[in-house]
Amino acid sequence: MAATSRGASPVPPESRPRLTVLSGPSGVGKSTVVAHMRNEHPEVWLSVSATTRKPRPGEKHGVQYFFVTDEEMDKLIANGELLEWAEFAGNRYGTPRAAVLERLEAGEPVLLEIDLQGARLVRESMPEAQLVFLAPPSWDELVRRLTGRGTEAPEVIERRLAAARVELAAESEFDTTLVNTSVKDVARELLALVNVV
Ligand code: ADP
Ligand code: 5GP
Repeated sequence: MAATSRGASPVPPESRPRLTVLSGPSGVGKSTVVAHMRNEHPEVWLSVSATTRKPRPGEKHGVQYFFVTDEEMDKLIANGELLEWAEFAGNRYGTPRAAVLERLEAGEPVLLEIDLQGARLVRESMPEAQLVFLAPPSWDELVRRLTGRGTEAPEVIERRLAAARVELAAESEFDTTLVNTSVKDVARELLALVNVV
């Protein structure tokens, strides 16, 4: 087992689940790790979520997220267009259902980067999904990363840290934990888990 992983089971590639959910507290480095992995392996398909959060500098509609209004989100939910959705730190986020199901039906690996509530919902509706938890090397490092990113106001950081305490306590619900000490190492381990290599 690699030094950064806890609880990974040696599942043979042919029986590995095709849907992988990556979760972990805000600021732990989920987006960074996924971006690094997809830089080297653009063939890994990542679901693009809808969110009511405002774009951060550099974020583009349809790339990091589909940025939608509250009314648009209401419609997506009412029309059953989301596989799961959750409210996180004052905004709503959801996974568009159709694109995910198309990929799975085509037999391609699918990666979702979603919060703990979403991961639990996916586990209920798709028990074969594999749940991967990205953990920080320490609490202090998580605070440093979230603050250092510089994209949230202090009160939003506080909300996200409160959510992080809940998320960290749920680590044991996940199939595998990867500790994000080195982006490169974790990206490699995640790639192996999504079953592309
Ligand atoms: P998340 O998507 O989980 O909210 P981000 O990917 O935005 O987190 O990362 C939060 C901050 O932490 C960013 O500034 C990023 O550059 C930094 N970061 C991510 N991974 C690492 C790492 N392994 N070591 C040091 N800093 C990291
Ligand atoms: P951020 O605002 O930092 O991009 O994301 C905040 C949290 O929302 C993160 O934990 C992220 O994984 C989660 N998230 C992003 N998209 C979705 C989604 O479609 N569903 C759920 N449940 N959470 C999501």
